[in-house]
Amino acid sequence: MNRRGGALSRKRAPVVVGWFTEESAGGDRECGFRLLGTRCSSCASVFFPREDVFCRNPGCPGGELTEVPLSPRGRIWSYTDSRYRPPAPYVSDPELEWQPRTLIAVELEAERMVVLGQGAPGVSLADLAIGMEVEAVPGVLNEDADTTWTTWHWRPTGTRGPAEETADATGATGVKA
Ligand SMILES: [Zn+2]
Repeated sequence: MNRRGGALSRKRAPVVVGWFTEESAGGDRECGFRLLGTRCSSCASVFFPREDVFCRNPGCPGGELTEVPLSPRGRIWSYTDSRYRPPAPYVSDPELEWQPRTLIAVELEAERMVVLGQGAPGVSLADLAIGMEVEAVPGVLNEDADTTWTTWHWRPTGTRGPAEETADATGATGVKA
């Protein structure tokens, strides 16, 4: 899947531990990929980013927080694109021309929450619409000498694409066949 020479020797590591599942057992990274939150045993509130210390629901007497996978799909609540290189701590190669990336806020109906994420490589504003169904897919935030830092991307459902492209090396050839 990775088309960059030498990249195969890099280890994969999540940019934030515990926010999403790692590679699934089948070897297909897209199959079974899920964002991970926590749910309160007392009031059933779901938190993402995960809350592991105490339930933030002010009306809740407090319960145990356990890890739960979030809905794999949601609907676009809002979206935009980043036309300028984000400041640090965002990591990007200043030698490379900045490639605009879409930012998508996705409403998860069951959890009643909105989760922000980058669009998958090749996804442009023209591909998106409010209310469109998207799915969480594994993505790459950036790479350094020995590590590929992984994250999640949002991608319109029903499209298969180069989800393994690096954040900056997008040839932007398009996700759709
Ligand atoms: Zn609670």
